[in-house]
Amino acid sequence: MSMPWVQSGSRNDGRTEEAAGEDQLSLIPRWSVVLAILIFGAVQYLFHGVLPHHKPEMLPMRLLMGYSWGTAFASYVLLVGYVSRDVKRRRMPAALWMLIVVLMPGGIGAVVYFLLRQPLLRACPNCRTEVMSSYHFCPQCQFQMAPVCGRCFRGVQITDVYCTQCGHDLAKDQAPARLRAYSD
Ligand SMILES: [Zn+2]
Ligand SMILES: [Zn+2]
Repeated sequence: MSMPWVQSGSRNDGRTEEAAGEDQLSLIPRWSVVLAILIFGAVQYLFHGVLPHHKPEMLPMRLLMGYSWGTAFASYVLLVGYVSRDVKRRRMPAALWMLIVVLMPGGIGAVVYFLLRQPLLRACPNCRTEVMSSYHFCPQCQFQMAPVCGRCFRGVQITDVYCTQCGHDLAKDQAPARLRAYSD
């Protein structure tokens, strides 16, 4: 059984991996970075300015406590910022998830979020339909989104020579040029 490889259309301008390869750090909004720095500073102020510091021998302890609490709170703010953007690109109810992540104590809400979040969507390079990033072919136009075995159609690595599931010789598959370009 063979399947015609769907050739990339003129609209395939190299932005195929734009969703998958997106820089995770760019998902942290500026407000949460600023807030994290402010909170870190506030915690330092709390430990070194507000709390009684008449015992000089406690200084290393205060430094350690200030640093660890400051880092913990700042990371939490960054995490909330990350979720606020991540939730939107996954088309999940943003308000509900922000509430869960912020209100559940000790970061449990964030853990629940990362366990339950929907897979990333990405646009088909050929017809721009939004599809699950795990799809091998576009459900609307049959465009091949990921390297697959030509016999069993399970996913393969771009560098594989034989299919790990059925042993098929992948070199016989005539992969589309845009996938072949990555293989060597
Ligand atoms: Zn498509
Ligand atoms: Zn196979």
